[in-house]
Amino acid sequence: MRFHCRTLLPFLFAVPAMLLSDTAAAAQARVKVVSSLPNLGSIASAVAGDRIDLTVIASGAQDAHFVDPKPSFIVKLRKADLLLVNGLDLEIGWVPPLTQGARTGRLLVGGAGYIDCSAGIRVVEIPLSLSRTEGDVHPYGNPHYLTDPLNAEIVSGTIAEALRRADPAGAQAYEDGRRAFVRQLHEALFGQDLVDLAGGAKLSREAFAGTLDAFLDGTSIGGAPLRAHLGGWLGRMQGVRGKAVVTYHKDYSYFADRFGIRVVDFVEPKPGISPSAKHLEDLVTRLMVGDVPVILTRPYVEHRSTDYLAERTGVGVLTLPIEVGGAPEATDYFRLFDHATDQIVRALTGGRPSARR
Ligand SMILES: [Zn+2]
Repeated sequence: MRFHCRTLLPFLFAVPAMLLSDTAAAAQARVKVVSSLPNLGSIASAVAGDRIDLTVIASGAQDAHFVDPKPSFIVKLRKADLLLVNGLDLEIGWVPPLTQGARTGRLLVGGAGYIDCSAGIRVVEIPLSLSRTEGDVHPYGNPHYLTDPLNAEIVSGTIAEALRRADPAGAQAYEDGRRAFVRQLHEALFGQDLVDLAGGAKLSREAFAGTLDAFLDGTSIGGAPLRAHLGGWLGRMQGVRGKAVVTYHKDYSYFADRFGIRVVDFVEPKPGISPSAKHLEDLVTRLMVGDVPVILTRPYVEHRSTDYLAERTGVGVLTLPIEVGGAPEATDYFRLFDHATDQIVRALTGGRPSARR
């Protein structure tokens, strides 16, 4: 008996040891990706699946302009192959301290592993002269481009290309992942029916060119214009097009352009600047016109100003995230827009906005 145990022992230990070393080797082989923000992490995850080992620095409940650069992320960055950033100076206050602390040249601006995901994005609200006057936090134009879901198509291409360079053996997997993500994105935005009829790539081109409406109304299938087949987030938002909102921060410009709502004023007089008493009184006057059903705000900003405006004017306040994880419903980039479009349609059609913050 004792003899048998002794002979078995090496095997009993050998098997778990082999499994461990295989797991360790697989973990070693995975591309180590650090993403500054959750939306970029969600897109990277959709493109790459478990080929990457992903760390996201900020949570969706934090203001992307002002994240605390915790030193624990320096350790993660030292080992990282790629760093995904939003760019346009959105993370200027917290990513540079982390990358400089990590002292890895490849993750500094211009390094092979530094991936600025704003590449190829048509940036709006670019100031005529570079200025951070009075603390304006959008010196290179509006950095919140991922509030337009179609921009995630461009970002997924940027991320897939970076992954191909870092891990050429996975090139096909990344391309397959990117295609699947874009297909899912088109179906979520335009509706599966319309994508099947017109093709996602065609719809995407028309939407980027600003000619989607003309295309949908000017193209007929079986005697009915294509618009009859529009579904998804755009279909859901059709009924509230042209409606006016006030937002706390200037972070819905791309969303408003894509979905056809109007942002007529901001609680912050300039991005990053708290409202003065005078600005709040001007907003009360503006809201009393009666054409703005709701003020959109964020979980991480002060609520005193919006509470005051609601009290004075009776206009509702809706707190929505713009990053994955900013609300329990926003578990990934798709659910984020499911939640946002659902809540906005409710608020703009007389339903009660969610009271959650
Ligand atoms: Zn901003």
